[in-house]
Amino acid sequence: MKLANIRGRAALVLGDEIADVETVSGGRFGPEIMSLYDDWAAFAAFAATVSAGSAPLVEAGLGNPVPAPRQVFAIGLNYRSHAEESGMGVPTVPATFTKFPACLAGPFDDVHIPGDTVDWEVELVAVIGARADRVDEADAWANVAGVTVGQDISDRTLQFSAGSQFSLGKSWRGFGPLGPWVVSVDELADPDDLALSCAVNGEKMQDARTSDLIFSVPRLIAELSAVVPLLPGDVIFTGTPAGVGAVRQPPRFLQPGDVLESWIEGIGTIRNRCV
Ligand code: ZN
Repeated sequence: MKLANIRGRAALVLGDEIADVETVSGGRFGPEIMSLYDDWAAFAAFAATVSAGSAPLVEAGLGNPVPAPRQVFAIGLNYRSHAEESGMGVPTVPATFTKFPACLAGPFDDVHIPGDTVDWEVELVAVIGARADRVDEADAWANVAGVTVGQDISDRTLQFSAGSQFSLGKSWRGFGPLGPWVVSVDELADPDDLALSCAVNGEKMQDARTSDLIFSVPRLIAELSAVVPLLPGDVIFTGTPAGVGAVRQPPRFLQPGDVLESWIEGIGTIRNRCV
């Protein structure tokens, strides 16, 4: 299943068409997309019975498919390649921070650039589909509704000028584009091994596979849910691979006019223009 937010209404994406969830379910589900994560098992069973859309899929209508999570987890230094390029050690527990939820944005929204050290970080984002409390790693994928493409856009100056508390530097308005839709786990041949990349103005900057994650998605769910319950609709930004701008020689950062494209195998591409 591909679940999208079309102009504020939940919709299933079926090839190049969409089916409005409230309409096709006769009012049983939707139109609020967040309500579907609260009732994910029932919704997924219903969605499997829908085989055709009724309107064309239009990129411009796509909004954030997880617009109001109660908790946003983000993991730093979760690829060996990125830990090495950052000159930091490989963490022994997930280096967890947050992006404040109001910074999340749609897959094709513009990103306002508030300074001259704004950086990119393409990331696989897991969306929780069932309350997960003290979950075993082996059972963890069953608590995931699906995955989506995320950008953990980062103001490096603000990030590193507030001591070790860098969530604010990750949370300027629009710094968390997500999308273009949530892909349910059953659609992916191997959810633990997905290619991901990002490009600026067509030049590839990051290129890796999620099988290189130090803490896999199931391991993250086990580690996080040992501390605090994960709630339906929560998101986990799972970390970024090598290739961020701050450690390039010379450093390179996003500027107004740049186009940032982020792609994950089996999910799709989000595209954000810097303004
Ligand atoms: Zn990140």
